[in-house]
Amino acid sequence: MMTIHSVAENALAAFQSYKKTSPVQRAAFLEAIGTELEAQREVLVNIAHQESNLPLARLNGELHRTINQAKLFANLLKEGSWVEATIDTEDLQRVPAKPDTRKMLVPIGPVVVFGASNFPFAFSTAGGDTVSALASGSTVIVKGHSAHAQTSSQVFTAVEKAILSTGMPSHTVQHLLGSGRTVGKELVTHPYVTGVGFTGSFSGGKSLVEYSQQRESPIPVFAEMSSINPVVLFPDTLEKNAAELAKNYAGSITLGAGQFCTNPGILLALQSDALNNFLSLLQGEITKVAPQKMLHTGIYDSYLGSLEKVLSKKGLQVVGKSATAANTGEAAALVASVSGEEFLSNPHFAEEVFGPYSLCVICKDRQQLADILRSLKGQLTTTIMATATDLQAYAELIELQQSLAGRIILNNVPTGVEVNASMVHGGPYPATTDARFTSVGSSAIKRWVRPLCLQNFTDAMLPDALKNGNPLNIWRTVNNGLTKDKIAFG
Ligand code: NAP
Repeated sequence: MMTIHSVAENALAAFQSYKKTSPVQRAAFLEAIGTELEAQREVLVNIAHQESNLPLARLNGELHRTINQAKLFANLLKEGSWVEATIDTEDLQRVPAKPDTRKMLVPIGPVVVFGASNFPFAFSTAGGDTVSALASGSTVIVKGHSAHAQTSSQVFTAVEKAILSTGMPSHTVQHLLGSGRTVGKELVTHPYVTGVGFTGSFSGGKSLVEYSQQRESPIPVFAEMSSINPVVLFPDTLEKNAAELAKNYAGSITLGAGQFCTNPGILLALQSDALNNFLSLLQGEITKVAPQKMLHTGIYDSYLGSLEKVLSKKGLQVVGKSATAANTGEAAALVASVSGEEFLSNPHFAEEVFGPYSLCVICKDRQQLADILRSLKGQLTTTIMATATDLQAYAELIELQQSLAGRIILNNVPTGVEVNASMVHGGPYPATTDARFTSVGSSAIKRWVRPLCLQNFTDAMLPDALKNGNPLNIWRTVNNGLTKDKIAFG
């Protein structure tokens, strides 16, 4: 077996060539990954189904999303303006003379990607972290998740084929399996590694940050960790739309056995008859949801353990649960409620319970609801369920929601994340380690780059993105104006 050091050496050697590939070459590579994944669809989906217990339809959809993510980054590369080329031309008349300075984003180097257990395709071996890093020109070492080791290895065969067919340097992507605490730690602490992408538990993400800080030169760790995605159900919408809200939220809480980072883990509302009616409708909906098999025993045990812990807390009441008994490995949905006062006095209520669970916090008045919103830690999403009347009447609470999360949703459920240029799947700590970035959508590429300024370089020495003639025909900021024009002097 190869040592971690030789894997890191290979990744660095590959980076020296890979970073020089043109955007069009890298786009072809990403498209080839998509083509190879599509060619192996049946095999991949079946293996993932065996390993993850996820339904075939969901896995087919997730593979489709994974292929589209690769295409999204291929298109970003072909368009090219993402490098943020910025040029300030020289002014020799100025005293002192102003030099020519040109800036663009360049790849950081070999990065390590930890596969996520809850997305065996879309956030694993050829998932969003990997393809965004590859698009930037960084090379990737994947630490596959042990819960879907075979899926991860099979996906890697597709990536290897794409490396060969498009003539990319060997070791542009490498794949390792093994324990996070040994293999993962050694990778994160290796001096050639320049960045880390991770989705998983709070403790896992926090450990990776600690490993990074133990290094002689710390590196960025982009970890997406825990989020309870608070939803505020405002009074007028509860009054008018209770049945629809109960149906939609029962669906969102239990989607994929609740194993989504955007699962609505907490519902906040003011006490009222309309809320009581909503809760009894939600109880009816939750009762109908059959238990579903969870991804792996670790997640199942963690769900049971977290539920037991929260159910033992003073003040918690069960609103409703799946009527069907759950077999071993299956998660039964459960919705509970607690008063605002109890919630504020016990921080355990604000902890993520990863699974088909949600807690309704019944607030005595708007001041208490505001206090609760202020008490919450950083989130991936927060949702405003409101009519036009609510929006007007509760503007100050909605304002509070704005600072909580990376994505603020109006009258939708938080589950379901669009993969596009405007998406933000990130948020203040502990939702992620760095709220300035997203792990979903084309801006995810920004995690794997650094700005580089070239001063007084000759045109021949400049990369294409910064040359006077703008051979890539990209949007650039030249002397403070956005343009595709060539620079006629310099
Ligand atoms: P995890 O335990 O955090 O593991 C994710 C990856 O990180 C695995 O490859 C794991 O290695 C590695 N890892 C974990 N702890 C590490 C450490 N201390 N040092 C180095 N590497 C480490 O996540 P999981 O297995 O996917 O699920 C466990 C729990 O995480 C869930 O019950 C849930 O609470 C939470 N989770 C949250 C989200 C979310 O989006 N919010 C998503 C998934 C999971 P190994 O292969 O050795 O385990």
